Amino acid sequence: MRAPAPLAGRRGTCNQCQAEFRIPHPRVEQQVDTSSASAPTITPVFDKQSRQSAPSSPQSSFVRPFDSDDGFHALLDQVQQVASQAVEQTRRKQVASKLTAAQIGAAFSGKIEKPETSQAYKSSLLGVAVMMFMLPLSYLGLIFGCAIAMLLYIFFVVPYLSSSMFAHGRIGFLMLLVIWAPVVAGAITLLFMVKPVLGGRSKRTQTRTITREEQPALFALIDRVCEATGAPQPTRVEVDMNMNASASLGSGMFAFLSSDLVLTIGLPLLATLDVRQFTGVLAHEFGHFSQGAGMRASIVVRTVNQWFARLVYQRDAMDSVLESAVTESPTWIGIMFALGKLFVLITRGILWLFMKVGQLVSSALLHQMEFDADQYEVRLVGAEVFKRTSRDLIRSSIGFEKALDQAGQWLPEQRLVDDLTLLTKHFTAKVTPEEMQQREQLEAIQAGHSTHPTTADRIEQACASGSPGVFQLAGPASALIHHFEPLCRIVTCEFYREALATDVQLAHLTATAEWLPRLQQA
Ligand SMILES: [Zn+2]
Repeated sequence: MRAPAPLAGRRGTCNQCQAEFRIPHPRVEQQVDTSSASAPTITPVFDKQSRQSAPSSPQSSFVRPFDSDDGFHALLDQVQQVASQAVEQTRRKQVASKLTAAQIGAAFSGKIEKPETSQAYKSSLLGVAVMMFMLPLSYLGLIFGCAIAMLLYIFFVVPYLSSSMFAHGRIGFLMLLVIWAPVVAGAITLLFMVKPVLGGRSKRTQTRTITREEQPALFALIDRVCEATGAPQPTRVEVDMNMNASASLGSGMFAFLSSDLVLTIGLPLLATLDVRQFTGVLAHEFGHFSQGAGMRASIVVRTVNQWFARLVYQRDAMDSVLESAVTESPTWIGIMFALGKLFVLITRGILWLFMKVGQLVSSALLHQMEFDADQYEVRLVGAEVFKRTSRDLIRSSIGFEKALDQAGQWLPEQRLVDDLTLLTKHFTAKVTPEEMQQREQLEAIQAGHSTHPTTADRIEQACASGSPGVFQLAGPASALIHHFEPLCRIVTCEFYREALATDVQLAHLTATAEWLPRLQQA
């Protein structure tokens, strides 16, 4: 195995045996296998212990200098020793910088006042939830109406037409075709209308459940934020590879009836925010938990919105079957299928209208729920931190998208970097003011049918009070997580497994840190 000179001193993994190795200084040659014809230029490192004690371990006796300059190599050994001590010191410092439950407890200086929700808001909420429930019902009504119309046509119109326009031969055949064409087209339409109702739900992305025993500091913070915001405790905490944090109730159609409160935390979010910012985000999510009936209503609203979006945009095998039936059937039969296709298009148009009505009716409510949850955040961490977080979330979202894009570009080279949060941090630091501005403009355009208000509106609404907050603690949010880096690696691996639908193992990944300097050069 050969490695280019600039990689000297770095660690890597053998493509064949997956053994971890360190690439030595080019001037040092090592005899691993004397029977081997070509001189290997890579020092295998079998575990951390042997790496730390490298200068005095028997391994070092394998090192044979190229020249007789022993003084130089003694110096090199010393340099290596100092370097490994420095690494060990940094590692200890990192461990020491992890936050403790006691520190977290001391960071809270009180509870927050629960934001008031107006009566008008509560009643509009009920109205919207009822309306959103009516939308799918009217769609079912539409299907029922179409079926009735078709039956009426078959039992009343067809016999009448057949008896009044009776003809023989070719003309008769054509007449028969004209009479029955609407039935075939109607049947196709009904099939396409019913299909999405029966169709499966969109799959939930992969998450990893973390426990109180594994992550005492994070759970201590969650406990205290729940206490301060008066929110119920989550029944489960999960982490995933998303630039997001969310509070949800179970999953599926009847999630709004569930009592299974799930808090999902994206590791890229943890990697890019500081503790105060992250605590604010938690307060926002627990603010949603505190909304009780409002949260359940919003779940109904979101489920219905997503359902219609799926009906409008999702295509499957049946669409391609219909497409080929139109183009490949004999002309007369093809016309019937084309008529069916036209009807399907019309139904999708109607569904699109349903979807738009749903979005318009619900967006004001969903926006109000966000403003409401923001109040919890502002009161806990203060207006200044809220402002900073709002801007930083835009920045890290851009960074995260770029990181995924870069990871995608590396795929053809079979290079899977082991920590997508590190890559996200790299790109987040490089986001330009122009990119931020573009994103904010896009937000403003989409605000009308988006589930979230624009960042500018949220900052304006939330910071009007100028609250100083009741939580003070410095440090990166990742300090809340024990073994943050290994956890990121595992979740990155699981992310690849799901995204690539292949059995990616940790051993297939390469160290992200090794590729970052090259990105900087590019
Ligand atoms: Zn929210």
